[in-house]
Amino acid sequence: MAQPFHDRDGWIWMDGEFIPHRDARVHVLTHAMHYASSVFEGERAYDGVIFKSKEHSERLHNSARILGFKVPYSAEEIDRAKAELIAKQSMPNCYVRAVAWRGSEQMGVSAKRDDVHVAIAAWEWGDYFADKMKGIRLMIAPWRRPAPDTAPANSKAAGLYMICTLSRHAATDAGFDDAMMFDWRGQIAEGTGANIFFVRDGVLHTPTPDCFLNGITRQTVIKMARQRGIEVVERAIWPNELASFSECFLTGSAAEITPVREIAGLGFKPAVMTEQLLNDFAALTRRKNVAAA
Ligand code: PMP
Repeated sequence: MAQPFHDRDGWIWMDGEFIPHRDARVHVLTHAMHYASSVFEGERAYDGVIFKSKEHSERLHNSARILGFKVPYSAEEIDRAKAELIAKQSMPNCYVRAVAWRGSEQMGVSAKRDDVHVAIAAWEWGDYFADKMKGIRLMIAPWRRPAPDTAPANSKAAGLYMICTLSRHAATDAGFDDAMMFDWRGQIAEGTGANIFFVRDGVLHTPTPDCFLNGITRQTVIKMARQRGIEVVERAIWPNELASFSECFLTGSAAEITPVREIAGLGFKPAVMTEQLLNDFAALTRRKNVAAA
């Protein structure tokens, strides 16, 4: 059994300083814990460099802004703290978690007087899905992505993950690896922690991110594909089209590019397109200087 997350060696950057991992605590009367007033990032470092670190730090700021609070450190300060953390932890290849949350000055729905806190942790994390290259199996999630006027869909806010956890549990309880979520209209949206792509006749199709996160990996994959001359279509995708696609994969900072071999009984075969993009993504992330990507 892996060491629990509260009981590990090493360091966590919290509110401007490095503190021993085990001492990074919050009080039970913390607004974020009761009212989900927290936003976070999931990132990966490759060979000592965090992929798209700046984009993640900026998204953390934007997520907080959408929830009505301000991260009290600049994106540059957060970038620096992340880089120092992985160096201090001697973790050139790791997952990095930054989180910002409302504290314990005020309890109740209103939170304007709460101080905002920030923490950054890093840990070693291999593939998000075991045996990833075999392709994973998705079921249809019992929950749908909410309409953008019912939840702050563009924020990577903790509260939005409630239905992701429920859907993921439903999937694993039923023997699947993950779930694919529809949106409130019944269109295909995404995985529980990753975006989704399909292939038909050499063209990539992916849902328009109008009620879910436009992932940094998603944007990278679209750019990589277009650079290769592959046509990418962002559009509404309905479930009755699923049978017409030959390949399918998920994208995310944790999931990277994960081939899918089944969605609720329909088979997909990871082939040339998935393999090509996987190779391109591996080459890109393992390169020291990713500024051009
Ligand atoms: N959707 C959800 C719900 C996610 O949790 C993630 C992971 N952050 C993504 C999409 C993909 O985003 P990214 O590529 O920026 O990690």
